[in-house]
Amino acid sequence: MRGVAVLGATGSIGQSTLDVMQRHPERYHAVVVSANRSVDDMASICRIHKPTHAVMGEPESASALRDRLVDLPQVAVSAGADALDELLALPDIDTVVAGIVGFAGLRPTLSAARAGKTILLANKEALVSAGALFMDTVKRGGATLLPVDSEHNAMHQCLPIDALGRPDMTNVEKIILTASGGPFRGRARESLHSVTPDEACAHPNWSMGAKISVDSATLANKGLELAEACWLFARTPDQIEIVVHPQSIVHSMIRYQDGSVLAQLGQPDMRTPIAYGLAWPERIDAGVEPLDIVAAHRLDFEAPDLDAFPCLALAQWAISQPGGMCAFSAANEVAVAAFLQGEIRFTDIDQVIDLTLKQVELSEPASLDAVQALDETAREVAQSHATRLAAAHGK
Ligand code: NAD
Ligand code: MG
Repeated sequence: MRGVAVLGATGSIGQSTLDVMQRHPERYHAVVVSANRSVDDMASICRIHKPTHAVMGEPESASALRDRLVDLPQVAVSAGADALDELLALPDIDTVVAGIVGFAGLRPTLSAARAGKTILLANKEALVSAGALFMDTVKRGGATLLPVDSEHNAMHQCLPIDALGRPDMTNVEKIILTASGGPFRGRARESLHSVTPDEACAHPNWSMGAKISVDSATLANKGLELAEACWLFARTPDQIEIVVHPQSIVHSMIRYQDGSVLAQLGQPDMRTPIAYGLAWPERIDAGVEPLDIVAAHRLDFEAPDLDAFPCLALAQWAISQPGGMCAFSAANEVAVAAFLQGEIRFTDIDQVIDLTLKQVELSEPASLDAVQALDETAREVAQSHATRLAAAHGK
């Protein structure tokens, strides 16, 4: 029986994880579940999964959850990052699913790494904001890092892997990172000024949280994933090719020196990479529909359009700057939140990131404090640009 901590349990990744776990009650038990403020969803999760601990983002939500669970005293409810840090070191936790969205997921993921747990990493923002620190903490803590992001999971599946989950990159010539292209693939930039948050969140293949859905529409997600792949597989950006594959069936590929290209194919359903991470090095049923390759009919590949979607080009630049992706990711989070609030336009998102990258003094953050300081500075700068753009639009 493996003890699992599901961070971001109420989100899209959290729900998919709990779904897979529920199919194998003899193998997995939720020891800790965490969420930010969704008390109702958390109460249902606690009733179904009966975790030992439920952690909310803040005391008010924790107290509301406690009131909802008076008849379930075996679930200890707490609040805040310090409580979560402590719980993640519990010896009955083997696996930590990092499913919190954004920079907020960095601290608990680092705690899991320090405690030497097996980390199923969905929260790419944590890795790209603090790449060197993150990878060093995993190494020092003796943690096992298994990527759950579908593309990186595909790469992991196509590489030789050692007992600690680390890939052997000998003889790898190129990583081919696939992108769906998002809901606005093929459109000119001029046509994107007036798209709405609902249109941006309507991903053609994947059902995901709002933030990553917008990131997929701007291609900022592919920029984050490029940086993620560089850290996870010790590559430089020129060793990774990005191709748009609108069907989202090939989740990424590895090209070897002998000319062989290995690909992982599957339905666009996150339960596949999550099940791979939960069971690795074994395999389990994920509840995913089998892939009907004949019905899929065709697989297309094309180059990304960096003119229509400048976020990807900005990320490619930021990756080569010390601390660049920390500032990129922070500015992107601020800009996406402002877009989802209806304050700025879709095409303002890349403007906010661009202006922030130009204005913030970049340097490699060596400690968690330095990462947090750079993240905060970039957020302040990005917010000032978002507020100015919103005012210009009369918002
Ligand atoms: P989501 O918005 O559906 O869920 C986010 C979860 O994080 C929720 O449980 C929420 O309560 C929690 N959370 C948010 N802010 C928090 C805070 N400040 N403190 C504590 N908890 C907080 O997001 P998602 O789509 O599940 O994505 C989660 C992460 O996984 C993201 O980093 C995303 O990029 C990555 N990811 C998601 C998918 C997907 O299919 N959804 C695929 C690949 C990678
Ligand atoms: Mg992905």
